[in-house]
Amino acid sequence: MHYISFHKTGKVVFALVLVCFFSAVNGCANQIPAQSEFVLGTVCTVNLYNRGNAKVYREIFSRLREIESRMSANMDGTDVEAVNANAGIAPVAVHRDVLEVVQRSLYFAELTGGAFDPTVGPLVKLWNIGSDDARIPRQEEIDAVLPLVNWRNVRVDEDAGTVFLTEPGMRLDLGAIAKGYAADEAARIIAKARIPRAIIDLGGNVYAYGTKEGGAPWRIGIQNPSGLRGSYLGIMEVRDKTMVTSGVYERFFESGGIRYHHILSGKDGYPVSNGLLSVTIVTDHSIDADALSTGVFALGYEQGRALVESQDNAEAVFVFEDMSIRGTSGAFSYFSLTDRDYHIINGE
Ligand code: ADP
Ligand code: MG
Repeated sequence: MHYISFHKTGKVVFALVLVCFFSAVNGCANQIPAQSEFVLGTVCTVNLYNRGNAKVYREIFSRLREIESRMSANMDGTDVEAVNANAGIAPVAVHRDVLEVVQRSLYFAELTGGAFDPTVGPLVKLWNIGSDDARIPRQEEIDAVLPLVNWRNVRVDEDAGTVFLTEPGMRLDLGAIAKGYAADEAARIIAKARIPRAIIDLGGNVYAYGTKEGGAPWRIGIQNPSGLRGSYLGIMEVRDKTMVTSGVYERFFESGGIRYHHILSGKDGYPVSNGLLSVTIVTDHSIDADALSTGVFALGYEQGRALVESQDNAEAVFVFEDMSIRGTSGAFSYFSLTDRDYHIINGE
């Protein structure tokens, strides 16, 4: 069985983890089957199997670092940081990568009625979830930033290549979509190199490219949201699909017995609380899966499910606090439950 565990490091910041496993297969020491690096705020692992070669790995990881250097909201010198610094002041010329991801994020903001909102930045900063300074903000602090969270106040000028946040204090945060874009870019490099199969795992944002040797589907573990990191509750069997999970377990802190996690509501300014532990999206493009996993989680089960059903080639698996699991109409053609602490509820 091929099982991919989810390596997410939360708030631990490693400088760089570089792992090369040399294949013993056929005694060929030149193949490099898997490589990992800390980039995009998480451990990213790419496995090119028996076609692994240093040049393609290098190209993929430098592309991931390039995307991070353009899109991170917490690094100095990124385009996103420049857009934020110029909120309410002036449009900022950004790289095409950023333009594309911002446009796509506005598309998903509209599609989800604002449940997915790339201008959630001021709230993210206020809560600081995932850092050592995470805390529950005072109500007046939340009230002060809520009006700044409004994707309709983002202006993209396609011809000029600029992004403008119309209100001072607004902040873009592409954390819920950038890894999906990066996974698609890694897949594009793999296709260009004519490598037939690969697993791209950007901290749980997985692209299962091609099939296993011989055409069998990949078997990808879905993180158990109430279990240990790396433990899984079920398996997705897929060929050439991406699957992305958003959940309460990824970045959070606890206070007074309450868990405060990192998916925030632009309505009340608090972590979304709707009975869900996680949402996994399976589809063809990772940017869509990433945006939808966050947006559908924020929308909640009923509206989120209806939205996924309306999309071509997309399925969702919903995991609830009461340990039940529901899925969209085609979800169980991919997903099978392995952890019997959970139970599947069909037909809703
Ligand atoms: P992960 O970072 O684990 O892949 P997500 O894709 O769900 O998880 O992204 C969560 C991140 O997106 C948060 O850490 C924050 O930066 C940002 N975010 C939080 N709430 C929202 C929201 N409602 N819409 C868009 N982005 C959000
Ligand atoms: Mg996401």
